[in-house]
Amino acid sequence: MFFDEITKMGHEQVNFFSNPDVGLKSIVAIHDTTLGPALGGCRFLNYKSDEEALNDVLRLSQGMTYKAAVAGLNLGGGKAVIIGDPKELKSEGLFRAFGRFLQTLNGRYITAEDVGTDVTDMEYVYMETPHVVGVAETSGGSGDPSPFTAMGVIQGMKACLKEKRNSESFEGITVAVQGLGHVGYHLLRNLINENCKIIATDISSGIISKVKDEFSQVEIVKNEEIYDVKCDIFSPNALGAVINDDTIPRLKCTIVAGAANNVLKHPEDGLHLEKRGILYAPDYAINAGGLMNVSIELEGYNQKRAVRMIRNIYYNLSRIFRIAKEDNIPTYLAADRLAEQRLTILRKIKAAYIGGTQSPRSIDRRRKHSI
Ligand code: NAD
Repeated sequence: MFFDEITKMGHEQVNFFSNPDVGLKSIVAIHDTTLGPALGGCRFLNYKSDEEALNDVLRLSQGMTYKAAVAGLNLGGGKAVIIGDPKELKSEGLFRAFGRFLQTLNGRYITAEDVGTDVTDMEYVYMETPHVVGVAETSGGSGDPSPFTAMGVIQGMKACLKEKRNSESFEGITVAVQGLGHVGYHLLRNLINENCKIIATDISSGIISKVKDEFSQVEIVKNEEIYDVKCDIFSPNALGAVINDDTIPRLKCTIVAGAANNVLKHPEDGLHLEKRGILYAPDYAINAGGLMNVSIELEGYNQKRAVRMIRNIYYNLSRIFRIAKEDNIPTYLAADRLAEQRLTILRKIKAAYIGGTQSPRSIDRRRKHSI
């Protein structure tokens, strides 16, 4: 059963790590290293069962392969989960034990922050292995990826506006922002600079009062109302699965473009959006700014380079829209097709050589201490 599942999904390797002394139970899934070493965050969550954790890590690591492929990175897809309540279990010992386990993978998987983990945790991992990104600026890292994810979402929105209105200008545009956390807050700041009208919501009253104090021009609505407001762009930056049978008929926008992962409840919801004339920016293509930013750490972090790379999100989305038109398919399928095209080409090239998982270029440029 288990091997059937990972064979079907295309995983190369699934690792189970346990260290009862520090309460560590972790699964690391390496989905595909065709393009390079697998990179993906470490999620620390109180899963209901080990099976739930396994399903999550398998699905998330597969998603990372597609995300890196569309982003044009020399990276494969991987992800880690740590099972348990982070509030109870987080400790230096746990993350150092996790780092030691990762070291045994010899760089085939590189970890980073995800839900439930932060820069401090990655610093502990870094004490045991160089195969971690998203470490603090003082350690040569790039810190919090959220401002870069938000920057990428703006680029993606511009590509959508160009596609829909033949102008990437935000002038006269209304954007409805759902979720004002790490990414949503930075997105708000960027949108204010673009001089558009903004309607926003968040479930946290603390965040809402902070936003009201700081940005008086933003109109705040109740959580559920965000789906009904008249706007040009609906931008989900909170949870997944918010685009579904219930919400699609309510949307009064022409574009859905935000950072939230797995935003379509079911893949077919991408088709339902298209039928309503709504352009969907595939989540893993538009939210790749954070991944692009941390990937630069592997070469020695350079913020200017990261920003230049993030501008490519505009072109990545334009290519997806072109494929969607040419092949007459919805944009979510066009994104998968773009990823698969790149993976297929690289698989063919690799078949011609005997070698490891990293292209010579990415090996040359790895941080000195990471090899
Ligand atoms: P976050 O937890 O900091 O922010 C999420 C915000 O959404 C919180 O403020 C929360 O109160 C709010 N929220 C939750 N449920 C809501 C609801 N029903 N209605 C309105 N607001 C609600 O998370 P984040 O790091 O900002 O990430 C946001 C999304 O973007 C997530 O789906 C994440 O997976 C995705 N993402 C984040 C990054 C990154 O760099 N942080 C990168 C890629 C993708």
